[in-house]
Amino acid sequence: MPKLDTLLIHAGQQNIHGAVVNPIFQSATYALTGEVAYGALRYLRLNNTPNQTALAEKLAAIEGTGAALVTASGMAAITAALLSNLSVGQHALVQSTVYGGTATFLTSDAPRMGIACDFVDVSAPETWAAALRPETTVFYVESIANPLLSVGRLRAVVAFARQHGLVTIVDNTFPSPVNFQPASIGFDLIVHSATKYLNGHSDIVAGVIAGAPERVEAARHLLNHLGGSLDPNSCFLLERGLKTLGLRVRQHNASAMALARALAAHPAIASVHYPGLPGSPGHEIAAELFSGFGGMIAFTLKDPALGDRLIERLTLPVHAPSLGGVESLIVRPATSTHLGMTPQERAAAGISDGLIRVSVGLEDTGDLLADFAQALA
Ligand code: PLP
Repeated sequence: MPKLDTLLIHAGQQNIHGAVVNPIFQSATYALTGEVAYGALRYLRLNNTPNQTALAEKLAAIEGTGAALVTASGMAAITAALLSNLSVGQHALVQSTVYGGTATFLTSDAPRMGIACDFVDVSAPETWAAALRPETTVFYVESIANPLLSVGRLRAVVAFARQHGLVTIVDNTFPSPVNFQPASIGFDLIVHSATKYLNGHSDIVAGVIAGAPERVEAARHLLNHLGGSLDPNSCFLLERGLKTLGLRVRQHNASAMALARALAAHPAIASVHYPGLPGSPGHEIAAELFSGFGGMIAFTLKDPALGDRLIERLTLPVHAPSLGGVESLIVRPATSTHLGMTPQERAAAGISDGLIRVSVGLEDTGDLLADFAQALA
């Protein structure tokens, strides 16, 4: 089996008319060739046109799953994966610190569809059984949790779900398949915001669902009606971005580790959250399961009131939400990515107002360290 860096370049490559790059198929519909099922008609919304299927092949190859699907956003992937496994009256166990959009969907939209959830501490398996209900069907987690960058008891999640007949869904956006392939430890469905590392250039919004063919097919069926397919131009950009994923993520890993160590040693810093640092929640699990710790760091200043000044004084990281691009980005989650949560919900999830989150980009590592040093000084 070729290695990941080879699959990133060659899987799904179609060599149409000898072209070494899959061209953009800017066509909404395709001539009929005797199809007998609606889902087989080739049409952009039905997620079965050449740019979409080429990507699906590459994504399944790099996540090590039987199938994959590209979607119009990470949230399209997350909602389709959840809703294809949760019907009215059913219930999900959900990691207590998940991406703000996922949390808000589960607490404010899903209940209107008759779907309930309970948030659980993924580092405490002994607490999960108490939250289980006869109608629980899903256990939803993030492989590195946003924004505190903790790593839960991922093997225990899979074992617990198998014991109780639950479908496991994991958001693998932060590690990317370069650092971790959740299917290798038995997760059923993997979702991504491909907006982040998979595309890597902050110029599209896209998502991924990967898993066994029948599970991906169920999500595709739902998504066909919700209308969350990805357009050919964005498919082209995502495919281009994916080819350098291995190189990019290894550099993100290296720079983030250097910055996390420098921040941890700085007298103005109260705490640093980075799965690569001993003492960070879930470090041992990350060290066992991951081949790298990713490009995301969160930290708090000893004087949290100085957070906005620090962000202003940095010259390289752009003060903007999102992550996983070539440029460093910095935010306070309480005033950006997690603004959709109430202050009480944020406090319960451990997201303090002073928490700062950095997406470490691909600028020169020394330049990044120097920029943080001058801003902290
Ligand atoms: N999952 C994680 C971990 C994220 O950080 C995000 C966005 O920031 C999403 C999902 C949602 O993805 P998108 O914005 O592509 O819909």
